Amino acid sequence: MSATDPLPGITRDLSAEGPKTPIDWDELQPEPQMPARAYYSDALKLPGFGEQPHRCIPRKPVGFCDAHGHVTLASASPCETRSCPEHWRLWQRKAAVNVVARLAAFRYVQENAGKRMLHVVDAPDPRRHWTVDAFWDERSRSYDAVRDVGGRGGVVVPHAYRTSEDGDWLFEQAVSRGDWEKERGRWSLLRDAADDWDEMQQFVEPSPHYHHLVAAENFDPAEIPAGRVVKNIRSLERFKIRDMTGYRDMARSAMYLLSHSALEPSGNRQTVTYWGDVHPNCFSPEEELTTAEWDRIQRNAERAVTTQPSDDIHDAGSSEPELLDCQHEECGGQVIPIWDLGEWLENGEFVGRLGRRQKQILKGVMIWLEEGGDRPPPSSREPMIREWLATIGREREFSDQIGLGGFTELWP
Ligand SMILES: [Zn+2]
Ligand SMILES: [Zn+2]
Repeated sequence: MSATDPLPGITRDLSAEGPKTPIDWDELQPEPQMPARAYYSDALKLPGFGEQPHRCIPRKPVGFCDAHGHVTLASASPCETRSCPEHWRLWQRKAAVNVVARLAAFRYVQENAGKRMLHVVDAPDPRRHWTVDAFWDERSRSYDAVRDVGGRGGVVVPHAYRTSEDGDWLFEQAVSRGDWEKERGRWSLLRDAADDWDEMQQFVEPSPHYHHLVAAENFDPAEIPAGRVVKNIRSLERFKIRDMTGYRDMARSAMYLLSHSALEPSGNRQTVTYWGDVHPNCFSPEEELTTAEWDRIQRNAERAVTTQPSDDIHDAGSSEPELLDCQHEECGGQVIPIWDLGEWLENGEFVGRLGRRQKQILKGVMIWLEEGGDRPPPSSREPMIREWLATIGREREFSDQIGLGGFTELWP
């Protein structure tokens, strides 16, 4: 930052026109090429870049790999909060299921063209003085802007950032080198590439805008309020209660929008809000649908978010859950659920591939499982947990040798 630029962004227009107040900045006309003058860098982040709640720090064994028996450790009580670096995706999935179910229920009770739903994005003047409060306050103005162009109501997901030139460059490089599939999108790549918020900030820049999945029979560009950019991105797929196509389309949109939605780490602002005819004051699925209808819609919404489209062709219930890759470096094994361990330890071919220490660790896991397997090991650091498992496994080996089988005490 140069000496003539004491605060980021705010000095630019002052020379010609004299001092301005934030109210004057509101009157500036939009110029979309210019980055936002935002003052929220650490006060607004993205999901998964907040604090990990204390309760999800204790870990326990949840699986082992089929190649070398490496134990996968995971949180003993996952938190499902949007700020948690480890579990924000659980929040994302749950929030998406709720969005899809509510929009589906609303569309279901509408007549004909009333079922129509658009994905609209509304961007206010980026040159305004954007503070955290201004960012959230603008959300209600966004409802009005989208109502003006024909929206009757819907869901809003606010975005505080867009990808920066650096972020776009990295994405294009990764795609052209064949390191990243284009369809997976730039946001998931950048999240992968950034270890923490400091790194993530290189890939994004402030750009307040509001995504709407909105019931609208028409979109009238002539009614766009002055000073805003309101765009109809596309019409969503038609909705029919028994056809997964409409659910999946809403689910894809919701998951994508939530993946880089605005998170205020120190605040309680809702990420997802509803407005107009879809607001809870105007529409209640419990009252307007039969229990059976609402139940079916909720189940289809969950299925749209948590399963693959190919499951719609095969029998949805029978598909095998996908196995995760072992996180141990250069292992290449796949993670088997921990409750199958007993069976695997009777397989001589598998056990023959294990080193002595790995056998002790797995023996330790078996002892831990025999004791109920619900109490997390007495450390939250992964190397310490592995050491603890190896120790109790070794003690059991020893007591077996001297004829005191089953005498190992797990906790003092
Ligand atoms: Zn492994
Ligand atoms: Zn968590």
